Amino acid sequence: MSLEQLAALSRFYGADPDYVIAGGGNTSFKDEKTLWIKGSGVSLGTIGPGGFVAMDRARLAAIWNTEYPENAAEREAAVLADLMAARKPGEENKRPSVETLLHDMLPFAYVVHTHPSPVNGLTCSVEGEAAMKALFGDEPLWVPISDPGFVLACAIRGRLAGRAGVPGLVFLQNHGIFVGADDPETVKGIYKRIVNAIDGKITRRPDFREEREVYQNSRETGELLKKSAESVSGESGARRFVRFRWNNEIARLVKDRVAFAPVSSAYTPDHIVYSGSDPLFIEKGENTEEAFAVHSRKTGRPPKIAAVQELGVFGVGSSEDNAALALELFTDTMKVAAYAEAFGGPLFMTGEKIAFINNWEAEHYRQKLMEK
Ligand SMILES: [Zn+2]
Repeated sequence: MSLEQLAALSRFYGADPDYVIAGGGNTSFKDEKTLWIKGSGVSLGTIGPGGFVAMDRARLAAIWNTEYPENAAEREAAVLADLMAARKPGEENKRPSVETLLHDMLPFAYVVHTHPSPVNGLTCSVEGEAAMKALFGDEPLWVPISDPGFVLACAIRGRLAGRAGVPGLVFLQNHGIFVGADDPETVKGIYKRIVNAIDGKITRRPDFREEREVYQNSRETGELLKKSAESVSGESGARRFVRFRWNNEIARLVKDRVAFAPVSSAYTPDHIVYSGSDPLFIEKGENTEEAFAVHSRKTGRPPKIAAVQELGVFGVGSSEDNAALALELFTDTMKVAAYAEAFGGPLFMTGEKIAFINNWEAEHYRQKLMEK
């Protein structure tokens, strides 16, 4: 049964932290009438056949003949409503991935979308498109930075219109990669080829060894950050959690503000969602609580990453897990920044695209609250 094969293929990538971090990525299988797409909020690492949402492909195709509002928030809401309406009977309690339309558009039985760090070393670099062409020729499609979901699907549809045939390989600038093929083994073969080729070009790997005792006031600073995060949350009795990390790479980056620059913003939407778009950098001798409060006011939200000069990096979150997740994605940021050195240097998302994700996240959060 192909859905079993899709689940196995999904777990193959989902359980491998080199490909999937923190529930990112999505997969699908399709026949002529139905698309089975990963449900939103389901983790690829543990997914079974029940984790996919069956979608009516005729109704998905009808979305392309629908006029949507110009206003981004209204448009996203209307497209989401049409996506929900395209679920097959019996699927009402599931929510399809935001990239459903893009999966549907690629004419391959299996489609696997992930964000591997080496691939993003290329997609988040100044010379990404040229590097992709040098490595893989004209076969893959390069998609310039785009908002996710409907806007991304439209961008790809436009780019495909001028091409003969649809490639099984799509690179998304500042996001990741889509691979499509008619059987799981071919998908795996393409991934291997791509990741190995990019990996072979990488000139610097981050040094994650922990060679020095981390001494002094990481606990004390952690307590101050926790208190700061609780006090800016605006809720009385709110609890916040912090996690500390230090290694040789972090030591290099927290030397000063200039050294921190390559990790001082966001490379992809997942980085924004889990570790935030505005890490806080606290200089030596600066008042921790004041720095935290000023930064939160300035950006409009509390930071999920707080770096302290000559000390290390803290993940800050509303749970232990969220604080750990912030650090996990920050670690990926360090990898992407180092790998991108081979491709003309790292390139952050633009401010406008970052703002879209931040607003979208806020919107998502409100929706979740309303559904409860
Ligand atoms: Zn993605």
